[in-house]
Amino acid sequence: MQATPSYRRSRNLLLTPLASVQGVGPKTFDKFKKMGVENISDALYTLPHRYEDRRTIRRISALRSGEREIFTGEIRVSTETQTSRSRRRLWEVIVDDGSGTISLKWFHFRKPWMQKQYVVGRRLFISGEVKRYGAQREVHHPDVEFLAPGQDIEEFMAAEPYEFGRLVPVYPLTEGLHQKSARKIFHGIIKQYAPMAVSPLPEEIRQRHELLPLPEALAQSHWPSNDAFDLNLIKNARDSLVFDEFFYLELGLALKHRGVALEEGIPFKVEHRYTKPLLDMLPFRLTNAQRRVLGEIKHDLMRNQPMNRLLQGDVGSGKTIVALMAALVAIENDYQVAVVAPTEILAEQHFLQFYRWLEALGLKAALLTGSQKKSERTPVLEAIAAGDVDLVVGTHAVLQEGVDFCRLGLGIIDEQHRFGVEQRGVLRRKGEHPHILVMTATPIPRSLSLTVFGDLSLSVIDELPPGRKPVRTHAVAEAKRSQVYKKLREELSKGRQAYIVYPLVEESEKSDLQAASEASTQLQEEIFSEFSIGLLHGRMKPPEKDAVMQAFYSGELQILVATTVIEVGIDVPNASVMVVEHAERFGLAQLHQLRGRVGRGGEESYCFLFRSPQCSEDGFRRLRVMQETNDGFRIAEADLEIRGPGDFLGTRQAGIPDFRIANILKDGRILEQARQEAFQVAEREDFFTNPELSELREALQDRWGSRLEFATIG
Ligand code: ADP
Ligand code: MG
Repeated sequence: MQATPSYRRSRNLLLTPLASVQGVGPKTFDKFKKMGVENISDALYTLPHRYEDRRTIRRISALRSGEREIFTGEIRVSTETQTSRSRRRLWEVIVDDGSGTISLKWFHFRKPWMQKQYVVGRRLFISGEVKRYGAQREVHHPDVEFLAPGQDIEEFMAAEPYEFGRLVPVYPLTEGLHQKSARKIFHGIIKQYAPMAVSPLPEEIRQRHELLPLPEALAQSHWPSNDAFDLNLIKNARDSLVFDEFFYLELGLALKHRGVALEEGIPFKVEHRYTKPLLDMLPFRLTNAQRRVLGEIKHDLMRNQPMNRLLQGDVGSGKTIVALMAALVAIENDYQVAVVAPTEILAEQHFLQFYRWLEALGLKAALLTGSQKKSERTPVLEAIAAGDVDLVVGTHAVLQEGVDFCRLGLGIIDEQHRFGVEQRGVLRRKGEHPHILVMTATPIPRSLSLTVFGDLSLSVIDELPPGRKPVRTHAVAEAKRSQVYKKLREELSKGRQAYIVYPLVEESEKSDLQAASEASTQLQEEIFSEFSIGLLHGRMKPPEKDAVMQAFYSGELQILVATTVIEVGIDVPNASVMVVEHAERFGLAQLHQLRGRVGRGGEESYCFLFRSPQCSEDGFRRLRVMQETNDGFRIAEADLEIRGPGDFLGTRQAGIPDFRIANILKDGRILEQARQEAFQVAEREDFFTNPELSELREALQDRWGSRLEFATIG
């Protein structure tokens, strides 16, 4: 038995390139590289996707056709021949085990090889699917292993053949790699290197969750042992690996979280000086969910540590008002608030809303966007720096250098999913450990938010304001256009408003813009001439955009033809119809956001999703999901399934980890357990100093690299 190596030595060993493993030539290495397997560690973590049960060796007389069977026999006949009908060449071997005979056939073969290997009298092990042709049973292209001359079956089995008499792994392989040869390479690697794998996961955690030690977990998930075989063992082995992966991820997040928590925050007092009058002015009562999350936020704001909270709530659940209430708490304490939104249109909408409420309370709000002229901007910047402005709403412009706050106490990021993870840090540095609230309407399945936003506390608004009806959604083909227009006209005649949205794909931006603007002209002149139609797209100058949005808010325009600039946040409760052209070109999250523009009042609302004839299979699936549910969480989960976690959050979310084994959709329970343990370890006072934890710290550093910024924590 070798002694367990140190973590560092183990790691270096496992980084040995696959090319230096015996039996892996340059060609084979290239093929392994294609599947992302370049070193020993990659190979250890490439698990079989299934196992073949080759434990029972059957007599030839007892072979069942249609099954994959294992049997032995002696070669009686070995010869080249041809099929009776198509005259195709083939090699046939007939084997006999005393109970009966069966024919083995190869349609692709090299004759010299067959002649040399398949010699009458040789004994072999065979595995393959048994087929029946009339009275004859055959196996085509079987897996075969020869017994040595004079060797009997007991001897053969005692040498632990890795392909027979046991559960045999089946690996997901790239083209050109054969299962049999890849299996042999994997077998060699597991045997030699799995015992060297080291995870410094604390022993008591391993025992608490009944996890296998890493070497055993790896060995069992590749080559499950026979004697103790049951599926639970394989599952336990795999779960142990999953736990290991999640644990280091969550430990990193926990330390990040602790990094923030260790900083001094600004403990606010909640005095209701502005919040109470605001509640009195609102035309509605807060929902229970809004009140609950507001309580969670206030609790954080009163603490001596900076808040770092994610507010999640489906489209239309009323996050804005919660943000405003939080802002007022900061302002009551004589601090400033920054609200950042992803688009100018949304920033302006927020500004108009906030401005109105703040003015009524005798407070000052300012707007800051990239398109403002220098002459507009300078006085705003000065007022912010002097502390004359209580609340600043803006786009990325707020995050830029040169925007200096006098006393920033709370930073709010709306529609967080449109930003990268790093924006939070930028905003935080605009003050002295200000509280941070990020909001998103893209409902992120819990497992994903635990990984990507795992360092944030989570508040969820899980209830819509009363009286909302689900938006009636129809995916329609071009043939239904006149019916859709009829419905639209009906709604407009009732005094309601509508959106018609065109996709904007970057490569063909021009032609799409053209499509939108031509459509708006045509709709205005030929189809809806009795209504007024406005056009809105990203290329318009801000004053023009403003004018159009204003006209739509006020009801002067009945139809807004737009590109996706209206996707997030826009709030016009009177709008009741959303028409999306080329709907198959949008992602599910986008479609859900777009649909969320309607159904904001108590009236029935409609969403028509036009699909083009070239709609893909995934496109159909997305549209089907939209028709089936209005529930943002279910949509997000479907989205995650269709696209996978990497694409789900888009490339901007640099924080999304790649798991080698874990599946964040299916392994949610293990994720929760690993997270709990990791957060406890991270709480330890001596985490950074205890020599017993030094390997754990090393392992963590390896997995996280520079993303962890230990320096800011220590
Ligand atoms: P989102 O969560 O998508 O940002 P908004 O904050 O824009 O949603 O709110 C959507 C609409 O619901 C707004 O018109 C808002 O005024 C209204 N609203 C918010 N809270 C309530 C409530 N408790 N009762 C009724 N209407 C509400
Ligand atoms: Mg919003």
